[in-house]
Amino acid sequence: MKVLVVGGAGYIGSHTVRYLSRCGYQPVVYDNLSLGFAEAITGVPLVVGDLHDQALLEQTLREHQIEAVVHFAAYALVGESVNEPAKYYENNVIGTFRLLQAMRSRGVTKLVFSSTCATYGVPAIVPIEETQPQRPINPYGFTKLAVERMLQDFHRAYGLRYAALRYFNAAGATPTGDIGEDHTPESHLIPIVLQVALGQRPHVTVFGTDYPTPDGTCIRDYVHVDDLAAAHERALARLEELPAIEVNLGSGRGFSVREVIAECQQVTGRKIAVEFGPRRAGDPPQLVAKPDLAKTLLGWEPIHSSLTHIVQTAWGWHSSHPQGYATRQGKPRVVGDSR
Ligand code: UDP
Repeated sequence: MKVLVVGGAGYIGSHTVRYLSRCGYQPVVYDNLSLGFAEAITGVPLVVGDLHDQALLEQTLREHQIEAVVHFAAYALVGESVNEPAKYYENNVIGTFRLLQAMRSRGVTKLVFSSTCATYGVPAIVPIEETQPQRPINPYGFTKLAVERMLQDFHRAYGLRYAALRYFNAAGATPTGDIGEDHTPESHLIPIVLQVALGQRPHVTVFGTDYPTPDGTCIRDYVHVDDLAAAHERALARLEELPAIEVNLGSGRGFSVREVIAECQQVTGRKIAVEFGPRRAGDPPQLVAKPDLAKTLLGWEPIHSSLTHIVQTAWGWHSSHPQGYATRQGKPRVVGDSR
């Protein structure tokens, strides 16, 4: 099957492209390389284009005879979305609308979409089932929820077949260590802690120690990026029989910020300096998935998502690529640059 992977040069996208290739799919990546890296998707056709460019999307769907789309292209930082909501609505909502219109005009009916646990806001019950109300508490979560609604409506009216995959905290890297997470500036917990281990940062700041959790720090469900990649393949296969899928993708286990730091210290064998700071805006205290529906509908189970394996593989990537990918948009990377 020929699959267009929009945002396929990014972190989760590049791992999924590799997985799909191994399963016999023919992925074609469409990415504007604003956050992604061509280096992460060697050996796969790359169309450098923007989500807003509906004409180029249509041309790409036609020229590559695409049968299904996997869509990763989004801004995904909670804090940034609070300060720059326009950027989030424009890219995540309007951009996705353009993609859906391009698909309609080309008669492409299958879409796998990256949604998020941020659509649940502060959950009343943990672990979170898909039946819980979706009440986001930040613009990022609202943009993803808006797209979920758009997918439901396009399904009813135009026959779109879709899977909305609500990721919990994507983490880790492929065990070969040649692709991984590279954000500038980095804001995610595990990469930051590993940068401390590498001596690139003096310390990690724990955002809040007064949450209603056993050790006072936030609890998250970390799911390995290779498990997420496999779920996209499962969803593509299942869309033949199930036209509207909405599932959580998590490990089903939660770890506090302190526990994650302790695991990083254990895996790296290096001392991690820690400082304690105030809460970060938009962070719910506890997000843990109940992943049972994904097992029932997709036949998917997280098999790579022990915290130890996540940190070991992330460390494999970060310690072998301390400056991340060597190139950015085809140009040599300048250490310390920011996007
Ligand atoms: N966090 C932290 N210090 C950091 C980065 C993150 O304490 O430097 C916390 C953050 O408040 C959250 C958890 O680690 O509770 C995971 O944050 P991350 O940004 O990795 O993912 P998010 O949950 O925002 O998707």
